[in-house]
Amino acid sequence: MGTKDGCNLIDDQTYAKEDSRALPGPQYYTKSVYQDLDDADTTVAMGKFGQKVLVWQAICTCGLRSSIFFTKGTINAKVYEEECLKKRMLPLYRKHKAPHLFWPDLASAHYVNSVLQWLSKNNVQFVEKDINPPNCPDLRPIERYWANVKRHFRKEGTVSQNMQELKKTGQLPPGKSQK
Ligand SMILES: [Zn+2]
Repeated sequence: MGTKDGCNLIDDQTYAKEDSRALPGPQYYTKSVYQDLDDADTTVAMGKFGQKVLVWQAICTCGLRSSIFFTKGTINAKVYEEECLKKRMLPLYRKHKAPHLFWPDLASAHYVNSVLQWLSKNNVQFVEKDINPPNCPDLRPIERYWANVKRHFRKEGTVSQNMQELKKTGQLPPGKSQK
């Protein structure tokens, strides 16, 4: 898989909650936060689960990352082509001079004809569907990357009230990513 000495540019999507305390896994609270609140407030804070947000990003084995695409909708073929590939993946892909390969996540919307045509039209070398192995997180470091991002935000206790805030806080500080 991949060209000799070249990069593998990988994309993936995952769900995040606007309130990172609602992510699965251990939750962090500091008691003092609630001491001055009445019951109604604590009930809201504890029980309010953030709205589900779909997060897409492409990362490269060299460490480069695309900007993140957030949506409360779904990523169908049209959205994937326009928002993910055209606006975010392609600029990252073109930053490379050495041979490199785009390895799309094996989602059905990623392999419809219009998307494949778009990839060829833009001279993007990509992993064909029939050789794209399903469910191999070990081979796809972005899966580990998401886990790291989520762990990071749980630890920081980052709480985003809305999409705008999530866009601001939903970025790991530079250097925190894992190859
Ligand atoms: Zn790269």
